[in-house]
Amino acid sequence: GELRKEDLVEQEALGEGASGAVVKCVHVPTGTVVARKTVAMDPATLPAVVRELTLLHSFKSPYIVQYYGCYTDEASLCMCMEYCELGSLDQIASRVYAAGGFFTEDLLGKICVAVVHSLRYLHRQHRVIHRDVKPSNIVVTRRGEIKLCDFGVSGLLVNSLANTFVGTSFYMSPERIQGQEYTVRSDVWSLGISLLELAIGRFPYPFDVPAKGAMMTAVAANGETPARRHQRVPIFEVLDYITKEPAPTVPADLIYSPTNPTGRLSTGFRDFIDRCLVKDPAMRPPPEVIMKHGFFRHWDAMFVDTEAWANMLERWQ
Ligand code: ATP
Ligand code: MG
Repeated sequence: GELRKEDLVEQEALGEGASGAVVKCVHVPTGTVVARKTVAMDPATLPAVVRELTLLHSFKSPYIVQYYGCYTDEASLCMCMEYCELGSLDQIASRVYAAGGFFTEDLLGKICVAVVHSLRYLHRQHRVIHRDVKPSNIVVTRRGEIKLCDFGVSGLLVNSLANTFVGTSFYMSPERIQGQEYTVRSDVWSLGISLLELAIGRFPYPFDVPAKGAMMTAVAANGETPARRHQRVPIFEVLDYITKEPAPTVPADLIYSPTNPTGRLSTGFRDFIDRCLVKDPAMRPPPEVIMKHGFFRHWDAMFVDTEAWANMLERWQ
C-alpha cells in the first residue's frame, strides 16, 4: 500500500458493515480527513489485493467516492477514501423516517441521477460492475453531493468475500441470487430496490433488512398487529422469495393523481422503478438505456438544492 498506518489519527467510528468497520481519520501529513475501511483478509492474498487496488487511483468522477490509498495491518486491509460528512442513505433514511419525514421526489430524482451516472462511468470507463448497490453504499457530502462507494474493482477482494454471507445482500438481482452469470443490469435492479426503499421508508419486500453483521436471518413483517409483526426467517427463504414472487412496485396510495391528491410520487417515478425491477435480465435496461427514461432525463436537467437539504440534515444531527 501507499499510505502508512502511523500517518493516520483516528477520530470517530462511522459505521460497521458485515466485512469490517469504517472510521473517520485524519491523514496528518496532508491534513486530509478520510474514511478508513478495515477488512480482515487471508494474509496470503493481501499483497495481490493491494496491487489490484492501485487501479482505483484512476477512478475519478463527481458521482463516486474518491479512493486515496491503502495499507496493510497484520491480517487486515485498510482502505482510505473521501470522507462524506452526512454518511450513507440508510443512516439518513432512518433519521428522516423516524422524524416523520420522507424523501421528496426531487431528492429521489437526484439520487437516481447520481447512481446511474456512476454506474455508467464505472462500466464505460473501467468495465467494472459495482455488485453492491444499496443505500449504505450511497453517501452524501455536506455540499449535497451524492456518491457511490464500495465498488467491486478488485476481483481478488470480491472473491475473498463471495460465497460467504458477507457477499450476500437482499439487494441482489434474481439472476444473481440464482447463481447465473450477471452483468451491469444486475446493478440496475439493485438501484431500483434501493430507490423504492428510500421512497416508501421500508424494505420493499415483506421482510425487514436485518441489522448489520447479522445476515443469517431476516425478519418477516407478517400480519398487522405489532406483537405478531416480527418473525425470524432464514436468509435463504428471503432470497428464494425474491426470485419466485413478482417484483415489488410503488404502492398505489403513494402515487399522485386527481383522485389521490395527497400522493407524493409520480407515475414517472413508478415507471422508472418498474423498468429497473424487470426480473428477466435480458429485458432489463443497462445504465445507458435507462438514461433515456423520462424520469432520469427530467431530474438530470433540473437543478435541485441538495446542498440546502444536506445543511438541514446536518443541523438535525
Ligand atoms: P455491508 O458490509 O453489508 O456492505 P455497509 O455498506 O453498511 O454494509 P461498510 O461498507 O463497512 O458496510 O460501511 C459501514 C458504514 O460506514 C456505512 O454504512 C456508512 O454509513 C459509513 N461509511 C462508509 N464509507 C463512508 C464514507 N466514505 N464517508 C462517510 N461514511 C462512510
Ligand atoms: Mg459499504
